[in-house]
Amino acid sequence: YAAKADGDKLRRYSADLDDEAGEEARLGAAVRIALDTGQFRLVYQPIVSLPDGRIVSVEALIRWDHPDRGFVSPAEFIPVAEQNGLIVELGAWILRTACAQAVVWRNTLGDAAPERVSVNVSARQLAEPGFTELVSSVLAWTGLGAQNLILEVTETAVFGGGQAVQAVKDLHELGVRIALDDFGTGHSSLGLLQTVPVDVLKVDKSFVDNITLAGREAVIATALIQVSHGLGLMAVAEGVETAEQAAELHRLGYRLAQGYHFGRPVAEPDFLGEPTAVAVV
Ligand code: C2E
Ligand code: MG
Ligand code: MG
Ligand code: MG
Repeated sequence: YAAKADGDKLRRYSADLDDEAGEEARLGAAVRIALDTGQFRLVYQPIVSLPDGRIVSVEALIRWDHPDRGFVSPAEFIPVAEQNGLIVELGAWILRTACAQAVVWRNTLGDAAPERVSVNVSARQLAEPGFTELVSSVLAWTGLGAQNLILEVTETAVFGGGQAVQAVKDLHELGVRIALDDFGTGHSSLGLLQTVPVDVLKVDKSFVDNITLAGREAVIATALIQVSHGLGLMAVAEGVETAEQAAELHRLGYRLAQGYHFGRPVAEPDFLGEPTAVAVV
């Protein structure tokens, strides 16, 4: 009797695995179609200076409105595209599109255009031979200056093997800025700063969320701003949702921030309007 129950459980378990693998394969195939039929688009979220709320750069974030599935989160499909390798082609499209957009803003808005565009790069892209050459050719093709591009990589991606560490060094040599995304959530965050040339630390939202409570997160956020300044890096506080958080971050020494409080990711941020939120009251 017990053996039968176990057998049923096992069958259910492997059926679940089949479903999961099947769904992943279906999603992967849908990414292929989406690339071919132009279902992807980019939105841009402001990164502002504190305390004035001026937009200094924008982060490009991918969006996918699938005809049947509706909105699919990048947190869901980027890992699938990494798995099946499509991220290489998708990532090249993202890079070209974001750099071309930055040049359009520069040409139409002049000095009101954001100084830099920040593009997320996944582990697989960074490990791929020829990634640095891809970046150079996109810069040449769009006419964007290397100093106007920031590439956001994660600690995990840098340690992902392949050409990753060398690619970061070569890109930095080219003049492209390197940002460490979700900083503080990976495995040897501080050790990494000794190995690879980094320009920007993006302090993860998890340290910002409870910043006003003066608890452990505030201690870590304080330590990270000291490390950044000590090493001559820029620090961006991610996921700032309230004026109170912005004021506290500014008080701790943060000069750059990003989050819904300042602006959500949109197709055309309002660069010409007044800053939407003045951080410090
Ligand atoms: P990320 O690079 O850390 O991007 C920040 C994420 O936080 C974005 O989610 C953004 O919409 C969200 N966010 C920004 N401010 C706030 C806030 O105040 N509150 C909250 N709750 N969320 C905020 P999104 O666009 O869903 O992207 C999720 C992740 O997917 C990104 O995290 C990144 O790892 C990946 N991703 C997005 N676009 C791309 C892309 O073009 N290429 C690659 N390789 N990965 C991407
Ligand atoms: Mg990012
Ligand atoms: Mg981030
Ligand atoms: Mg994050």
